[in-house]
Amino acid sequence: LTFLGLESSCDDTAAAVVRHTPGSCPEILSSVVMGQSELHADFGGVVPEIAARAHAERLDLCVEQALKKAALTLREIDGIAVTAGPGLIGGVLSAVMCAKGLSIGTGLPMVGINHLAGHALTPTLTDDLEFPYLMLLVSGGHCQFLIVRGVDDFSRLGGTIDDAPGEAFDKTAKLLGLGQPGGPAVEACAMSGDAAQIPLPRPLLDRPDCDMSFSGLKTALLRARDLLVAKHGGLREVDRANLCAAFQQAVTDVLAEKSRRALKLYLSENPTHPAFAVAGGVAANKRVRALLETVSAEFDVRFTAPPLALCTDNAAMIAWAGLQRYRSGARDDMTLSARPRWPLDKTSPSMLGSGK
Ligand code: ATP
Ligand code: FE
Repeated sequence: LTFLGLESSCDDTAAAVVRHTPGSCPEILSSVVMGQSELHADFGGVVPEIAARAHAERLDLCVEQALKKAALTLREIDGIAVTAGPGLIGGVLSAVMCAKGLSIGTGLPMVGINHLAGHALTPTLTDDLEFPYLMLLVSGGHCQFLIVRGVDDFSRLGGTIDDAPGEAFDKTAKLLGLGQPGGPAVEACAMSGDAAQIPLPRPLLDRPDCDMSFSGLKTALLRARDLLVAKHGGLREVDRANLCAAFQQAVTDVLAEKSRRALKLYLSENPTHPAFAVAGGVAANKRVRALLETVSAEFDVRFTAPPLALCTDNAAMIAWAGLQRYRSGARDDMTLSARPRWPLDKTSPSMLGSGK
């Protein structure tokens, strides 16, 4: 089967073609991602209206490029997968409308995909993983532990009750006068810093569950920064580096400790080939990756992280999720709607922690 995927739920317009023959590894024939950071740079965040307009303008071109790179025409595609939520509603609508148009025009089947399912299934695109595996999805907008039991079967063990770590990295960078995106900037600055110089809290570690909180860290950091500025008449380089190191260490410690709890819950199911996978932009952080790897080793569980280009928003993950759901019988028609909120876990008591 060969699937075309479409994604436009945040600030990346993406199209990709993925092919899979049972018994072999899936192949990404093309993956085109058009970012919009330059359009939103002046506003300090993604402006939904601007994002939606840009998606609508670029989707056709994106699809054209993805097909061209895959050296295929629409006639050689078996189906279309599209992100139908969660996300900025104007953006989600752009791709859903595009997919409907393509489906009507070609008669190809269409499958709506939950963006979070796309992220959560990504490790199976590049790695030979067995269900059930444990997933930590940690990005700019999300932070949650999931047990992935199948292409359409997820249990949420817990997640952030306020900010996502990526968002906290970005806000920290802003507070310390570093550039955006904040994650890489804070990581680079932290290299020369000493985390032990700035005591920061480790929120919610006193609670036995897998829930996390990152917004208080940012407030604690702001207070520490202001004390240092008052003491030295400005923010010294050494203090900036120490603040970055302390912040990064606090986030990493919380993720590691909550991973231990999630691993215990997951291992109580007795999976035959236990694996812990991480995805999302924050998974690019070397400190985070290293500590999660150590934690996995403590539990004798295999650790895996997809390549960075597949960790952040892309359409290959949507095409792959769509292909698999199609194979298990999923089909959508013209009643497919765009959903701003869409928890992955149907038993989820609340949508808190989806981060959006
Ligand atoms: P979502 O995928 O939840 O819709 P998003 O598209 O904003 O949100 P991603 O593209 O997965 O998220 O990741 C971007 C986030 O990852 C940003 O907040 C960025 O600061 C963070 N990030 C990127 N690299 C690093 C790093 N090296 N260390 C920490 N954070 C990082
Ligand atoms: Fe995403």
